[in-house]
Amino acid sequence: MIKQVRVRYAPSPTGYPHMGNIRTALFNWLFARHSGGSLIIRIEDTDVSRKIEGTVEAILDALHWLGMDWDEGPDVGGNYGPYFQSQRLDIYHKAAEQLISQGNAYHCYCSTQRLDEMRAKQIKLKQPPGYDRHCRNLSREEKAKKEAGPITPVIRSKTPLEGQTRFNDLIRGKVAFKNATIDDFVLLKSDGYPTYHLASVIDDHLMEISHVLRAEEWLSSTPRHLMLYRALGFEPPQFAHLPILLGADRSKLSKRHGAMAITKYREQGYLAEAIVNSLALLGWSLDDKTEILSIKELKNSFSLERVNRTAAIFNKDKLEWINGIYIRGLSLEDFSKRSLLFLENGLPPEIKRPLSADYIRQVLPLIQERTKTLAEVAELTQFFFANELNYESDLLIAKKMNQALAVQALQTSFKRIEQLAVFDTESLEVILRPLAEELGLKTKQLFSTLRVAVTGRTVAPPLFLTMSVLGKECCLNRMREAITSLRKMRK
Ligand code: GLU
Repeated sequence: MIKQVRVRYAPSPTGYPHMGNIRTALFNWLFARHSGGSLIIRIEDTDVSRKIEGTVEAILDALHWLGMDWDEGPDVGGNYGPYFQSQRLDIYHKAAEQLISQGNAYHCYCSTQRLDEMRAKQIKLKQPPGYDRHCRNLSREEKAKKEAGPITPVIRSKTPLEGQTRFNDLIRGKVAFKNATIDDFVLLKSDGYPTYHLASVIDDHLMEISHVLRAEEWLSSTPRHLMLYRALGFEPPQFAHLPILLGADRSKLSKRHGAMAITKYREQGYLAEAIVNSLALLGWSLDDKTEILSIKELKNSFSLERVNRTAAIFNKDKLEWINGIYIRGLSLEDFSKRSLLFLENGLPPEIKRPLSADYIRQVLPLIQERTKTLAEVAELTQFFFANELNYESDLLIAKKMNQALAVQALQTSFKRIEQLAVFDTESLEVILRPLAEELGLKTKQLFSTLRVAVTGRTVAPPLFLTMSVLGKECCLNRMREAITSLRKMRK
């Protein structure tokens, strides 16, 4: 019988979700949705000292924002809960006791000081790290003595000393580890919390997880887990370790590569669709060339067979490029709606609020083509909203022009524009294009002077469109100001 697909995303609430964590969540989600299975969210909060308040909410919020949903989890419940490991301590204790009674685990009373000394010695002698099994074979008397002492013991696994642990990873193929290289790792800590290894195995079993899709950094934990599955008489799930994520320089992904918390990408105006698309390509591809895939297409085509073994490179420029493509694909309505908050927050406070929704809809089509993130919208459109432009007057003097010519160009344009009964792109075209020749200027020169006068910038959206959106009165005012400022310039 083919087992129903049940996968889990099991974050630890020890930090804000970043690209790596969310890529794992996404692959699990795509795998579940593609196969008609279930996605379970489980919070692995067994490291009390590393827990950061608010991160569970941040993780769930990021997943929601990106459009993922789940069938069971801390917020939606389910038949296999509780979904916080901190609420399942009894279950882990029972399992640890069972392992002890079967001879697969033992109490260890070593003090932190002893463990530190042992570690220092191993470093000095260049020995591999790991517990030296000091308490593995304590006699009944020794154990009784330790029990009477001050140390609360931990429970360690009695790891087999010989043989190999092998498994078939769905991405990496055959993997084998020598058991002798695996130390007697801790299962239950002295604070009563389980370690990741114990909790993860018990829960994956009890939650009937069929496939464990997780980052490659957990590959070396898998033999430990398989030992526990065997000792507890559980059938292990299938494993698939996702390729490591690196920065463009092939070093570990870090803030330096622009790998920030996902929430920061939202604040910077990345679209959820673009993030999902980019993350999906970090280790998976449809056919090695398709770069743009909608969420629906991803769900339809995702498979573990097309997940690479080799490291996936995160490239912020590529993300930006993909984001630009998604922004260009938005309807005007959607683009306006998504830009509003960025405009409200990004435009200088002296600009009158509320901003006019109608005016925004006129402005935005002019910059949509050039926008790579929604956060740029405020900067790109500021001159449409500003009461005053701030720029250096000499920008008004285009190449191979002089001050007098610039003044003349603006004055003549001013007069012609003033007389226009209809102020739109066609009428501007009709009067301004021939004017350049009349003034003995290249159109490029005249348009450059006008562009700076009405926008304060040398680079802006198409001139006549810009002017028609700004309106006749605003353009004339700005041209008048430009003439005054040119006049004030020293020759
Ligand atoms: N809690 C682990 C993490 O935060 C999960 C590892 C696993 O998926 O087994 O990465």
